[in-house]
Amino acid sequence: MDLGIKGRKAIVCASSQGLGKGCAMALAREGCEVVINARTASALEATAAEIRAATGAKVTVVAADVTTPEGRAALLAACPAPDILVNNAGGPPIGDFRDWDEAAWQKAVNDNMVTPIMLIKAVVDGMIARKWGRIVNITSRSVKAPLPHLGLSNGARAGLTGFVAGLARQVARHNVVINNLLPGPFMTERQADGLRKLSAKAGQDFDSFKKAREAEVPAGRFGTPEEFGKACAFLCSADIGFVVGQNLVIDGGAVNVTM
Ligand code: NAP
Repeated sequence: MDLGIKGRKAIVCASSQGLGKGCAMALAREGCEVVINARTASALEATAAEIRAATGAKVTVVAADVTTPEGRAALLAACPAPDILVNNAGGPPIGDFRDWDEAAWQKAVNDNMVTPIMLIKAVVDGMIARKWGRIVNITSRSVKAPLPHLGLSNGARAGLTGFVAGLARQVARHNVVINNLLPGPFMTERQADGLRKLSAKAGQDFDSFKKAREAEVPAGRFGTPEEFGKACAFLCSADIGFVVGQNLVIDGGAVNVTM
């Protein structure tokens, strides 16, 4: 299926590995020029080389912290007029709400709410003027079904979701489409790290703990960054203009709700 986005320019935040990388790769496969980003330059360069080799796409790297004004300015300098923006950043730590002081909350809100809002604000008027824009925010299933050990994510991402719900409806008539992707359990470094911590806390070995978690997912497995990326590319496609302000849960059926 041709998604109709060949030649479009995309910024994909936090994308040297995991879900962001899956999105960058899928957009590059569709013929987009991609600007990828992470803090660690060496890993970012390696990912850029991998995407170029796999797709032949133009890939620009911006080694910067997207949660800082300077990092976002560097991304926008590399791609001042993006057609596509994929917002992503590292997620907040797992833990108990008693452990989180005001600074922890400020950081979660900055990284997972204010950062994507600042990038949207920077690019959305240009998209409106050009009558074409696609914005996908990577949030979490925790927006739909709160996870007890991820209170910082439950809270901060809900704030972003509320803002996006309003803005998406203000810009849709200009063919600027904003939606959110809500990942459930995907096998990435972050997921592996969380499993290591939770299995140690439960006194179980990593492999059997992971197997038990996979068995709880109706699909019987964790998702892959590749399939996540394809869903992202679909939400960036040319004909997606009537899908406005939605929250697509992509979780193998893990959130047990009817709608
Ligand atoms: P991951 O495997 O740890 O990858 C994170 C990527 O983001 C890396 O490329 C990392 O590179 C980059 N990054 C982190 N902080 C950054 C920053 N401040 N500025 C720029 N780049 C940054 O994580 P993931 O599993 O793909 O998760 C991506 C997002 O989805 C997170 O917010 C996570 O909470 C959320 N999520 C994931 C899952 C899941 O199952 N995987 C489920 C729900 C929600 P550097 O470290 O070099 O910067």
